[in-house]
Amino acid sequence: MPSTWLLITNATVVDGAANPPQPRTSVLVKDGRISAVGTQVSRELVPRGDDLTEIDATGKTVMPGLIDAHCHMTYGESRTEEEIDLYTSPELRTLKAAFHAQKVLRAGVTGISQPGGSYYIGVGLREAIKDGIVQGPRMTAAGRYLTTSNGLTDWFPDSVGVPEGSIGIVHNRLDDMIDEVRHQAKNGVDFIKLADSPYGDYQAFTSDEMKVLADLAHQLGKKMTIHARGDAEVHAAASAGMDWIMHGNIMSDETIAHLVQTGTPLVPTLLLLSNVGDWGHLVGAPAPMRDGMKSMLDKSADALHRAHAAGVTMVLGTDSGFSVTPYGVWHARELELLMTYAGLTALEAIQAGTSNGALMLGLDGQIGVVAPGMIADLIVVDGDPVADITVLQRRAAIETVIQDGKVVQFDEEMIARSWPHDRGIGYSVGDLTYDVVHGHADPDDPSLVTAGGPPGLASREEARDVVADLTRREHAARQE
Ligand SMILES: [Zn+2]
Repeated sequence: MPSTWLLITNATVVDGAANPPQPRTSVLVKDGRISAVGTQVSRELVPRGDDLTEIDATGKTVMPGLIDAHCHMTYGESRTEEEIDLYTSPELRTLKAAFHAQKVLRAGVTGISQPGGSYYIGVGLREAIKDGIVQGPRMTAAGRYLTTSNGLTDWFPDSVGVPEGSIGIVHNRLDDMIDEVRHQAKNGVDFIKLADSPYGDYQAFTSDEMKVLADLAHQLGKKMTIHARGDAEVHAAASAGMDWIMHGNIMSDETIAHLVQTGTPLVPTLLLLSNVGDWGHLVGAPAPMRDGMKSMLDKSADALHRAHAAGVTMVLGTDSGFSVTPYGVWHARELELLMTYAGLTALEAIQAGTSNGALMLGLDGQIGVVAPGMIADLIVVDGDPVADITVLQRRAAIETVIQDGKVVQFDEEMIARSWPHDRGIGYSVGDLTYDVVHGHADPDDPSLVTAGGPPGLASREEARDVVADLTRREHAARQE
């Protein structure tokens, strides 16, 4: 059978392994794998009669597609935790996940790892993408986050519990946790996600529980990761043999040395913190949340700079899937944040966003580098991301997305659409007091809005803007 070839000529190759860029270089792909990279590579290497696609990349950059190791496809751009856990039906969540996957790929993200989501939607989506039925990045998935009554994702009062539709599942006894790991492994997850304390102020699992669960996951051929923001749980997770760690916002030098010694990679996931902290006011994010995320970001800068200097492997992760981190928009911004908050160079940031994520895709050593033998998931960029990392954030600059050696064709009109917000039960954004109606109080007094209602909307104007903006977006979405 004749082979299928792709030849990209005269590009500047940024290889994803932090080597210096190679100018005037061509990349030849045969049947989905890179077969040659160099200045002498040409169509002479392709047998006559074989199928050949050529791309002239003069003045452009060719690099591996980005890998986002922290992308939640089941969240559906939720505005509230209730929307993530309660309101959207499993059927609709699944359809939304499939719809959103093409947006992620369009942004030049050719690989994602989903560290937790509701039901087994991630496993299904992974298979649909692999089979070519749904357009999206290649993917690995965890199931529901395994948590305790003291961990992230047990949001609701005990009278409610953790509902079946939640992204988390709560267990307080080791035997029950073991049971859950066994079920998730049976149902086809790639890895198990533990959810430790929300902000890292204590350990939600004991160190022994972590060790037993990680050993079991490994015995069953699965990997394990954890949401760990604080020093104690990062240290314990590395000791337990977790395969990578999410966040690590607060870390002592000893814990950092432990990560280096155990070779445990870190996915800092700064984007959610930064988007909310820097721009949350534009979309009505509550002020206390904005302040909290901003201060977490500042604390992270200290730990992450020390971790980078010590040699901890960093990986791109964004927590895309919230309304403040919509799909296919901000993935590449994490590279800029890794430079700002962890001190990476542009080449190191690109490495964090490409080859360092191969482990999370279960393809360590097979993807994320432009070199012979590697899987040909590539992007052609109109610009120089080494000189200006932000070029990767511009949709128009991601000229061509190549998946398994084939140029991906997108339905740009479909990608431009956004799915209407599902539902929330809200009556107002403030309290309708006597004073508000009859004008005895200053209508610009922020306390009129903040007291009782969603906390922290800075002014009535802002509150009105939020409502207007949401209404506009929904209207626009329905019009299309
Ligand atoms: Zn997350």
